Amino acid sequence: MNPIDERNARLAKNVVEHLKARHFDAYYCQTGEEAKKLVLALVPEGSSVSWGGSVTLRQLGLTDAFHAGKYDVIDRDLGKTPEETFDLHRKALLADFFLTSTNALTQDGILVNIDGRCNRIAAMCFGPKEVIVLCSMQKVTATLEDAIARARNYAAPVNAVRLNTKTPCAINGSCANCKSPDSICSQILITRLCKPAGRMKIILIGEALGY
Ligand code: SF4
Repeated sequence: MNPIDERNARLAKNVVEHLKARHFDAYYCQTGEEAKKLVLALVPEGSSVSWGGSVTLRQLGLTDAFHAGKYDVIDRDLGKTPEETFDLHRKALLADFFLTSTNALTQDGILVNIDGRCNRIAAMCFGPKEVIVLCSMQKVTATLEDAIARARNYAAPVNAVRLNTKTPCAINGSCANCKSPDSICSQILITRLCKPAGRMKIILIGEALGY
Protein backbone atom coordinates (compact mmCIF):
# COMPACT_ATOMS: atom_id res chain seq x y z
CA MET A 1 0.00 0.00 0.00
CA ASN A 2 1.40 3.44 -0.86
CA PRO A 3 1.74 6.07 1.91
CA ILE A 4 -1.37 7.97 0.82
CA ASP A 5 -3.55 4.84 0.89
CA GLU A 6 -2.00 3.81 4.21
CA ARG A 7 -2.58 7.27 5.71
CA ASN A 8 -6.18 7.30 4.49
CA ALA A 9 -6.85 3.86 5.96
CA ARG A 10 -5.33 4.85 9.33
CA LEU A 11 -7.21 8.15 9.48
CA ALA A 12 -10.46 6.52 8.33
CA LYS A 13 -10.36 4.10 11.27
CA ASN A 14 -10.62 7.05 13.67
CA VAL A 15 -13.17 8.93 11.58
CA VAL A 16 -15.41 5.83 11.47
CA GLU A 17 -15.28 5.61 15.29
CA HIS A 18 -16.18 9.30 15.63
CA LEU A 19 -19.06 8.90 13.16
CA LYS A 20 -20.41 5.89 15.06
CA ALA A 21 -20.24 7.88 18.31
CA ARG A 22 -22.52 10.42 16.57
CA HIS A 23 -24.97 7.59 15.68
CA PHE A 24 -24.17 7.40 11.98
CA ASP A 25 -23.54 4.01 10.41
CA ALA A 26 -20.01 4.29 9.04
CA TYR A 27 -17.81 2.28 6.71
CA TYR A 28 -14.44 2.58 5.01
CA CYS A 29 -13.76 1.33 1.49
CA GLN A 30 -10.31 1.64 0.02
CA THR A 31 -11.56 1.94 -3.56
CA GLY A 32 -14.53 3.43 -5.35
CA GLU A 33 -15.42 0.00 -6.72
CA GLU A 34 -15.72 -1.39 -3.18
CA ALA A 35 -17.90 1.57 -2.23
CA LYS A 36 -20.17 0.98 -5.22
CA LYS A 37 -20.65 -2.68 -4.22
CA LEU A 38 -21.42 -1.65 -0.66
CA VAL A 39 -24.05 0.90 -1.77
CA LEU A 40 -25.75 -1.69 -3.96
CA ALA A 41 -25.71 -4.15 -1.03
CA LEU A 42 -27.29 -1.57 1.30
CA VAL A 43 -30.20 -0.74 -1.02
CA PRO A 44 -32.66 -3.64 -1.47
CA GLU A 45 -34.20 -4.17 -4.90
CA GLY A 46 -37.66 -2.65 -5.14
CA SER A 47 -36.65 0.41 -3.08
CA SER A 48 -37.33 3.91 -4.32
CA VAL A 49 -34.00 5.67 -4.83
CA SER A 50 -33.01 9.24 -5.56
CA TRP A 51 -29.87 11.35 -5.37
CA GLY A 52 -28.44 14.85 -5.32
CA GLY A 53 -26.10 16.42 -7.86
CA SER A 54 -23.08 14.42 -6.79
CA VAL A 55 -20.07 14.00 -9.07
CA THR A 56 -18.84 11.08 -6.92
CA LEU A 57 -22.02 9.08 -7.56
CA ARG A 58 -21.67 9.57 -11.29
CA GLN A 59 -17.94 8.76 -11.29
CA LEU A 60 -18.78 5.44 -9.61
CA GLY A 61 -21.50 4.64 -12.15
CA LEU A 62 -24.08 4.38 -9.40
CA THR A 63 -26.77 6.40 -11.14
CA ASP A 64 -26.50 4.11 -14.19
CA ALA A 65 -26.51 1.02 -11.95
CA PHE A 66 -29.77 2.08 -10.29
CA HIS A 67 -31.37 2.89 -13.63
CA ALA A 68 -30.34 -0.55 -14.91
CA GLY A 69 -31.55 -2.41 -11.78
CA LYS A 70 -34.90 -3.23 -10.21
CA TYR A 71 -35.44 0.04 -8.38
CA ASP A 72 -38.00 2.82 -8.46
CA VAL A 73 -35.65 5.62 -9.53
CA ILE A 74 -36.57 9.26 -9.00
CA ASP A 75 -34.09 11.13 -11.20
CA ARG A 76 -34.45 14.90 -11.36
CA ASP A 77 -32.29 14.93 -14.50
CA LEU A 78 -35.24 13.38 -16.35
CA GLY A 79 -37.38 16.49 -15.80
CA LYS A 80 -38.15 18.01 -19.22
CA THR A 81 -39.28 21.39 -17.87
CA PRO A 82 -38.36 23.38 -14.74
CA GLU A 83 -41.77 22.42 -13.32
CA GLU A 84 -41.11 18.69 -13.86
CA THR A 85 -37.64 19.00 -12.31
CA PHE A 86 -39.12 20.79 -9.29
CA ASP A 87 -41.72 18.04 -8.93
CA LEU A 88 -38.98 15.36 -9.03
CA HIS A 89 -37.00 17.24 -6.39
CA ARG A 90 -40.09 17.16 -4.16
CA LYS A 91 -40.76 13.46 -4.81
CA ALA A 92 -37.13 12.66 -3.94
CA LEU A 93 -37.83 13.81 -0.39
CA LEU A 94 -40.09 10.77 0.08
CA ALA A 95 -37.67 8.20 -1.39
CA ASP A 96 -36.66 5.12 0.60
CA PHE A 97 -33.00 5.94 -0.08
CA PHE A 98 -31.33 9.23 -0.96
CA LEU A 99 -27.71 9.19 -2.12
CA THR A 100 -25.36 12.12 -1.93
CA SER A 101 -21.76 13.04 -1.36
CA THR A 102 -20.67 15.67 1.16
CA ASN A 103 -18.71 18.87 0.65
CA ALA A 104 -16.58 18.22 3.72
CA LEU A 105 -16.33 16.02 6.80
CA THR A 106 -14.33 16.77 9.91
CA GLN A 107 -12.02 14.19 11.42
CA ASP A 108 -14.36 14.05 14.41
CA GLY A 109 -17.40 13.25 12.29
CA ILE A 110 -19.25 16.47 11.44
CA LEU A 111 -20.59 16.89 7.90
CA VAL A 112 -20.65 20.29 6.17
CA ASN A 113 -22.70 20.92 3.06
CA ILE A 114 -23.57 24.01 1.09
CA ASP A 115 -26.48 24.14 -1.35
CA GLY A 116 -28.23 26.56 -3.68
CA ARG A 117 -31.73 25.18 -4.23
CA CYS A 118 -31.30 23.12 -1.05
CA ASN A 119 -33.10 19.96 -2.21
CA ARG A 120 -29.94 18.00 -1.31
CA ILE A 121 -29.48 19.34 2.20
CA ALA A 122 -33.25 19.13 2.81
CA ALA A 123 -33.09 15.39 2.06
CA MET A 124 -30.11 15.03 4.38
CA CYS A 125 -32.10 16.63 7.22
CA PHE A 126 -35.45 14.84 6.87
CA GLY A 127 -37.67 13.00 4.41
CA PRO A 128 -35.99 9.99 2.80
CA LYS A 129 -36.02 6.95 5.11
CA GLU A 130 -32.29 6.45 4.70
CA VAL A 131 -29.48 8.62 3.39
CA ILE A 132 -26.22 7.21 2.03
CA VAL A 133 -23.33 9.67 1.97
CA LEU A 134 -20.20 8.96 -0.06
CA CYS A 135 -17.11 10.81 1.10
CA SER A 136 -13.67 10.57 -0.44
CA MET A 137 -10.92 10.94 2.17
CA GLN A 138 -9.72 14.07 0.33
CA LYS A 139 -12.76 15.83 1.84
CA VAL A 140 -11.82 15.06 5.45
CA THR A 141 -10.61 18.16 7.32
CA ALA A 142 -8.98 18.71 10.68
CA THR A 143 -11.52 21.19 12.06
CA LEU A 144 -15.06 22.46 11.52
CA GLU A 145 -13.62 25.80 10.43
CA ASP A 146 -11.54 23.99 7.78
CA ALA A 147 -14.63 22.04 6.64
CA ILE A 148 -16.69 25.21 6.16
CA ALA A 149 -13.76 26.83 4.35
CA ARG A 150 -13.44 23.78 2.09
CA ALA A 151 -17.16 23.87 1.24
CA ARG A 152 -17.16 27.62 0.58
CA ASN A 153 -13.76 28.26 -0.95
CA TYR A 154 -13.10 25.06 -2.85
CA ALA A 155 -16.12 22.78 -3.43
CA ALA A 156 -18.57 25.59 -4.28
CA PRO A 157 -16.30 27.38 -6.80
CA VAL A 158 -15.42 24.07 -8.52
CA ASN A 159 -19.12 23.18 -8.73
CA ALA A 160 -19.90 26.68 -10.01
CA VAL A 161 -17.38 26.18 -12.82
CA ARG A 162 -18.87 22.72 -13.53
CA LEU A 163 -22.39 24.15 -13.65
CA ASN A 164 -21.31 27.33 -15.48
CA THR A 165 -23.18 29.56 -13.05
CA LYS A 166 -23.32 33.33 -13.45
CA THR A 167 -21.32 33.94 -10.29
CA PRO A 168 -17.92 35.51 -9.55
CA CYS A 169 -16.43 32.17 -8.49
CA ALA A 170 -17.18 30.61 -11.88
CA ILE A 171 -14.99 33.32 -13.43
CA ASN A 172 -12.27 33.78 -10.80
CA GLY A 173 -12.23 30.38 -9.08
CA SER A 174 -12.66 31.81 -5.59
CA CYS A 175 -15.64 32.76 -3.46
CA ALA A 176 -16.63 36.44 -3.50
CA ASN A 177 -19.46 35.94 -1.00
CA CYS A 178 -21.93 36.86 -3.75
CA LYS A 179 -25.67 37.43 -3.55
CA SER A 180 -26.24 36.46 -7.18
CA PRO A 181 -29.61 34.82 -7.98
CA ASP A 182 -27.46 32.10 -9.57
CA SER A 183 -25.52 31.50 -6.33
CA ILE A 184 -25.16 27.87 -5.30
CA CYS A 185 -24.57 28.93 -1.70
CA SER A 186 -27.98 29.68 -0.16
CA GLN A 187 -27.68 27.60 2.97
CA ILE A 188 -24.95 25.80 4.89
CA LEU A 189 -25.87 22.61 6.72
CA ILE A 190 -23.80 21.36 9.64
CA THR A 191 -24.75 17.81 10.56
CA ARG A 192 -23.34 16.92 13.96
CA LEU A 193 -25.54 13.94 14.88
CA CYS A 194 -27.65 11.32 13.11
CA LYS A 195 -31.20 11.03 14.42
CA PRO A 196 -32.76 8.50 14.30
CA ALA A 197 -29.59 6.47 14.78
CA GLY A 198 -28.42 4.75 11.61
CA ARG A 199 -30.60 6.76 9.21
CA MET A 200 -27.47 8.21 7.63
CA LYS A 201 -24.80 5.83 6.37
CA ILE A 202 -21.42 7.42 5.72
CA ILE A 203 -19.10 5.58 3.35
CA LEU A 204 -15.52 6.87 3.43
CA ILE A 205 -13.50 6.10 0.30
CA GLY A 206 -9.70 6.03 0.12
CA GLU A 207 -9.66 6.92 -3.57
CA ALA A 208 -9.87 10.58 -4.66
CA LEU A 209 -13.39 11.17 -6.02
CA GLY A 210 -15.63 14.20 -6.50
CA TYR A 211 -14.70 17.74 -5.51
S1 SF4 B 1 -19.12 33.52 -5.23
FE1 SF4 B 1 -21.26 33.11 -4.70
S2 SF4 B 1 -21.78 31.15 -5.69
FE2 SF4 B 1 -19.56 31.37 -5.71
S3 SF4 B 1 -18.84 30.23 -3.93
FE3 SF4 B 1 -19.10 32.38 -3.30
S4 SF4 B 1 -21.20 32.60 -2.50
FE4 SF4 B 1 -21.05 30.67 -3.65
